[in-house]
Amino acid sequence: MIQLKAFEVWFVTGSQHLYGEETLRQVALHSQTIAASLDSNSTIPVKVIFKPTVKSTEEIYSLCQEANNAKNCIGIIAWMHTFSPAKMWIGGLKILQKPLCHLHTQFNRDIPWNDIDMDFMNLNQSAHGDREFGFIVSRMRMSRKVIVGHWQDPEVIQELNTWCRAAAGWHDWQGAKFVRFGDNMRYVAVTDGDKVEAEFKFGYAVNTHGIGDLVQVINETSDAAVDALTQQYEDEYKMAASLCKAGERNSSLREAAKIEIGLRTFLEAGNYKGFTDTFEDLHGMAQLPGIAAQRLMESGYGFAGEGDWKTAALVRAMKVMGSGLQGGNSFMEDYTYHFDPENSLVLGSHMLEICPSIADGKPSCQVHPLGIGGKADPVRLVFNTTAGPALNASLIDMGNRFRLIVNEVEAVSPKHDLPKLPVARVLWKPYPDMKTGCAAWILAGGAHHTGYSQNLTAAHMENFADMAGIEFTLIGKNTTIYQFKNDLRWSDVYYQFNK
Ligand code: MN
Repeated sequence: MIQLKAFEVWFVTGSQHLYGEETLRQVALHSQTIAASLDSNSTIPVKVIFKPTVKSTEEIYSLCQEANNAKNCIGIIAWMHTFSPAKMWIGGLKILQKPLCHLHTQFNRDIPWNDIDMDFMNLNQSAHGDREFGFIVSRMRMSRKVIVGHWQDPEVIQELNTWCRAAAGWHDWQGAKFVRFGDNMRYVAVTDGDKVEAEFKFGYAVNTHGIGDLVQVINETSDAAVDALTQQYEDEYKMAASLCKAGERNSSLREAAKIEIGLRTFLEAGNYKGFTDTFEDLHGMAQLPGIAAQRLMESGYGFAGEGDWKTAALVRAMKVMGSGLQGGNSFMEDYTYHFDPENSLVLGSHMLEICPSIADGKPSCQVHPLGIGGKADPVRLVFNTTAGPALNASLIDMGNRFRLIVNEVEAVSPKHDLPKLPVARVLWKPYPDMKTGCAAWILAGGAHHTGYSQNLTAAHMENFADMAGIEFTLIGKNTTIYQFKNDLRWSDVYYQFNK
């Protein structure tokens, strides 16, 4: 459902009139070659659009204006093949509202030792032209991504891929709508936050609907639609016998399907990109949405429990960033620890709502009682997840700023069946190790709710945080508590000044 190829990044080359027509003709030709090559590279998930060389204050300004207004333009890649006096860039950069990537590259990879002359030097001078550009962007205190290397270098392509994905996630948030059914889980701190500031900072809106508005849509669901969806469940999952057509719990399955159809209808009608609900406010609903929330996440909707709109929006952004990559992204919660000193682990799960995009194999569809909420037994998908590198990301409101915390983890295959824990679950080892990873997370104020990703890296999340202009803090292989505590302290001072 999320098609990144609909998005464009614009490849913009800066120069000036000083060099004459012939040099500018070659600049344009080279830029076209690079843009076309990036555009056709299967690693780059979006379209790369060549833009004519900009050579004056007016051209730069109008290009930035055009980028701001272009619906599908998610960012600009800038490169100074020659020297582009950077005072010309001030006006344009001042109004630019799209993410900026400075590709510090050069058309030729190698120096042509035998043929190099002053004409060649005149044309191929990004080594200093890009420094002039870098100065003005730094002077203007603008955040941007800087990528260095030849444009055919696979590492450069990979970095561009990462940046484009972050830009797509960011673009998706602009003007996005998330619905919060009911309010925050009573008394919970970390899931709450400043929705006004979030809309100002992040571009998305969170508004509430009473659960009754949703219940009304759920109740309008036709039997035929429920028949079709329950059949789809039977086709896609390993079904508990009791849930199947003749089974004694088939009515639970039908109720769950009704909730999914109602929710999907509500989200589509309101043009929402995600939602959050709370088990404390389910008046008129028979079950807590389990399989519904799971399958809606799998379709690309953001979700988090207990009124946690920040995590719901984050999960959505992560799904956009990871679109088309192997592996998935899900709402997650750090639940229980295994403190075996030889093999310390975190067991991640939620009451029900883990996205099947991270499942290892075919999920099984089951119904079991739920200890809290006081509703009928909810239907849910149960599965284990694939082993391998992953990360947890948490977005918190620090009062004077938002902070994005990322912990790189290694997911491991479960060695035990957990027959009495019928929920989707993940086991992971935090980096750099259990004690340091968890201590750093606690010190940073990271939530128990996260977005869990199998296919994004810390670099995606860092690029994303830069675009949002928020604090980013990484707990990874090289983290030490001493350094991490200092990072948090310095960051606190920085955000006192940078208001
Ligand atoms: Mn929770």
